[in-house]
Amino acid sequence: MTTSQPTPSQGQPLPAVLTDFDDTAAVQNVAEMLLEQFGDPAWKQVRQRFRGGEISLMEYQEIAFRQIRADRITMQEYVKASACLRPHFGALWEHCQAQGIPLAVVSQGLDFYIQALLDKEGFPQVPVYSVNTRFTSQGITYQYRHAHPGQERLGNSKGLVVDSYRRRGRYVIYIGDGRSDFEAAERADMVFAHKVLAEECTRKQIPFRPFGDFGDVLAAVKEFAPQNAGASAKPWRRAARLRPRESRAFAAYHEEGAP
Ligand SMILES: [Mg+2]
Repeated sequence: MTTSQPTPSQGQPLPAVLTDFDDTAAVQNVAEMLLEQFGDPAWKQVRQRFRGGEISLMEYQEIAFRQIRADRITMQEYVKASACLRPHFGALWEHCQAQGIPLAVVSQGLDFYIQALLDKEGFPQVPVYSVNTRFTSQGITYQYRHAHPGQERLGNSKGLVVDSYRRRGRYVIYIGDGRSDFEAAERADMVFAHKVLAEECTRKQIPFRPFGDFGDVLAAVKEFAPQNAGASAKPWRRAARLRPRESRAFAAYHEEGAP
């Protein structure tokens, strides 16, 4: 069951839009497309271990992609030929650009395939928070630049990214579908959810709006006052309610910088 959420009104903080990538910004699960095309057939067994809670998403991804021998360009060309963004992403991006509203992709996936699809669709400048990769003669190596300080072994934290925008007084609209979005959905101000995330939000009584495509999100963003009317808006109070541990994590995160 979907519960109602307060509608933003004049004088509230300005929004920021953060969207998951696989199965959300992208129609397809691009990571799984690549594993299906280039990976070892055993990747689905690794996914099952992740779904069963035996290994983390970070471990699943690194184990599964370790088997791939295709190079970066080959996989990017495959993504460009096979995947697409969900409808109205472009209209949302244009509106956000015009209004000075941040919009970014927040993904536990890999930078090279996300960037390939954004490039193909004509949005290469969209900021991306993802796992950073390098292709070496020994295979792919991974960097987790958006992890909680000291907890890099857990991989990136979408909640940390959400918090970083909230600390800047932004009303965070988060869009997602899966397990990797649970943490972000709990911390965001407005959630658009589908699939497993919608089930989880229902179970935890986190209010959400059903996500069909980015037309739904664009309509929600337009409920906010225009950018020039928000100059005197007070930072939203929830942003000040972060616990001290989170505040320290936030400070350290921003010393490192974000995209
Ligand atoms: Mg997803």
